[in-house]
Amino acid sequence: MKSLFWLVAASLLLCACLQGGPQRQDAAALPTIGTQASPTATFPTQGSVPEPTIFEQPTNTPTSTTTSVPTPSATEATESTPNPSATATATASASPTLSAVSCNATYCVSPACTVDFSTDTGQASFAQAAAETCQANNEKIRLKMESSNTQTIRIVLRSDMQYAGQTSGNLIELSTTWFTEHPEDQGAIVHEMAHVHQGYTGTNPPFWLVEGIADYVRYWSGYANSWSYAHCASGSAHYTSGYWCSAAFLNYVEKTYDAQLIPKLNRDLRSGQYAGSWFQDDTTQTADQLWTECLQADCRSTG
Ligand SMILES: [Zn+2]
Repeated sequence: MKSLFWLVAASLLLCACLQGGPQRQDAAALPTIGTQASPTATFPTQGSVPEPTIFEQPTNTPTSTTTSVPTPSATEATESTPNPSATATATASASPTLSAVSCNATYCVSPACTVDFSTDTGQASFAQAAAETCQANNEKIRLKMESSNTQTIRIVLRSDMQYAGQTSGNLIELSTTWFTEHPEDQGAIVHEMAHVHQGYTGTNPPFWLVEGIADYVRYWSGYANSWSYAHCASGSAHYTSGYWCSAAFLNYVEKTYDAQLIPKLNRDLRSGQYAGSWFQDDTTQTADQLWTECLQADCRSTG
């Protein structure tokens, strides 16, 4: 009953925020959860001081008419067929973990992840799919990013979000509206999981690297699709744009100069050691020089 009391109190507080302030304040008011939930757990209210929330801009979509998002051409769609080997890897790694996910009427849980769909119990299928995606990819993302974060990732499904997803600490919130319209976009979950393992709090990292690395991880994990893949086009046309073009740039630098680029970048962004000369220190070429090379190598279309 005590937990129920705090649940009601927290809900009232959240509702008050939702009616009275901008979204950034709303999400920032949500607690960052550091404990592992279980299928029978009540909605946790304890937690540490909330960490800065990473808000997503509207994800690139082939159906959007917004000028800020790309509309892939037929050629791009053909070129963007997910790498079969990468997809196979993701599928193979997911298979042994499917049995690790169990669901009740409001939660799906696995050793690495919980998915709370208590606000919309009609989302059971998506909740299970999200838990499976999270479970299948969490450890390999953690290792790739050299993250020491082994706490449970908590995913909450929401129907009132403007963006596909947003992340604060180990809490990922996903838009049921977005995933109902784009059920193929499981990679957006992987993108948010990368934010969990970035852990860049307090270092003021460049936006383009925060979002570029998250998309890099998405594609590296095999979750490109016909309209979201490492390339440069409207919505993300420059290496400093973030998202898919920054991912293409990072792919180029990794392949051409430094196979350990991503772990090293993560390490220095996390520790506050990243500086404007970072790429020159690592490759002897400035970031702008690398971008010129990237364009000459046609990285805009192939990543
Ligand atoms: Zn992001």
